[in-house]
Amino acid sequence: MTAAHTLDRDEKLRILADDSRYDLACACGTRGGEDHRTRGPDGLWLYPTSVPRGGKSVLLKTLLSNVCAGDCLYCPLRRDHDVRRCALAPEDVAAAFMAFFRRGEVYGLFLSSGITGSPDRTMDRLVATGRILRQRHGFRGHLHLKIIPGASDAAVEAALSVASAVSLNVETPTRSSFAVLSREKDYDRDIVRTVKLIGRLTARGGPCAKVRPSTQFVVGASTETDAQIVTATARLYGNHGVSRAYFSAYQRGLGHPDLPGERRAADSPGDGLTREHRLYQADWLLRQYGFSAEEIPFGADGNLDLGTDPKKRWADLHPERFPVAVNRAAKGELLRVPGLGPTAVKRILAGRKEGRAIRRLGDLGKVGRVLRRAAPYLRFD
Ligand code: SF4
Repeated sequence: MTAAHTLDRDEKLRILADDSRYDLACACGTRGGEDHRTRGPDGLWLYPTSVPRGGKSVLLKTLLSNVCAGDCLYCPLRRDHDVRRCALAPEDVAAAFMAFFRRGEVYGLFLSSGITGSPDRTMDRLVATGRILRQRHGFRGHLHLKIIPGASDAAVEAALSVASAVSLNVETPTRSSFAVLSREKDYDRDIVRTVKLIGRLTARGGPCAKVRPSTQFVVGASTETDAQIVTATARLYGNHGVSRAYFSAYQRGLGHPDLPGERRAADSPGDGLTREHRLYQADWLLRQYGFSAEEIPFGADGNLDLGTDPKKRWADLHPERFPVAVNRAAKGELLRVPGLGPTAVKRILAGRKEGRAIRRLGDLGKVGRVLRRAAPYLRFD
């Protein structure tokens, strides 16, 4: 481990903000990678995201510390990996963020941390930063706090009392695939129990109903299949109030050489990102298109077809459901047409109410690559 004792605050912030890029479980959209984020004038990465009042703004995303007692084999910050380590005090992160905020360069903060000492001690420092922002600086905006696996109920409740959003990364969908990633963390105690607690606290009518919980899966490091990820995602949405799941392709070379993902990715270097993309498409089917997890089409190996959008794959497996009569079909039927999204369907239904019939594809809007996909699945009578 290399300790960075002599760095000043801005240098430490640059290192910690850079190391936070492995965590996507925030409102930073569905595309990872450097093309999606931009560097601010100070060299920090800023993450574009949609804001609740509409439009786009950017989040400052950083760790409080990249010193970590954790042993997660997929993570470059794991304790036995040699990286440059440093930490900032809660006051320093709060002051640095407020300087960005007052200049109008960011609208919110996404704050995470390596485990310093214990999960509860780490949560104390995260919550302390939130309290300094809320109480000392009067900041009322977006604050996303990471929940550290293994934190006590009291520590989780304290985080929910200051945050506008929280995330606990479940990482994998099953006990057995989780055990491959960490020899110390316990899936039931550190993940499942905490997911349930956050779900109860943020449920409608609960004490923290305004806080949005999200999660992240690391995809391809362990032995999980897409079917297991999608099923777990649907359960998190339906049973535990999780508002968004994010999928992060495991990046070969960052983790321990023993990981299954290190061997698999060596054979197919491009598949990780394609797999991540297909999982996001499947997630859209769950959240926006009324599909259940059981309807998502998986291959015999339990994975999505890397070559086809799962919505089109489902449509091609169900020829009896097509073509759909665009002027008469119900909303749910229209939403299942490849190439038609919620906005196009809304437009179709609004036009129908006003007595406007659709006679050709062009009546639905500009006929581009996406809309053209819908043609074989629609009837214009
Ligand atoms: S707890 Fe695990 S995932 Fe989080 S920083 Fe430490 S090693 Fe990485």
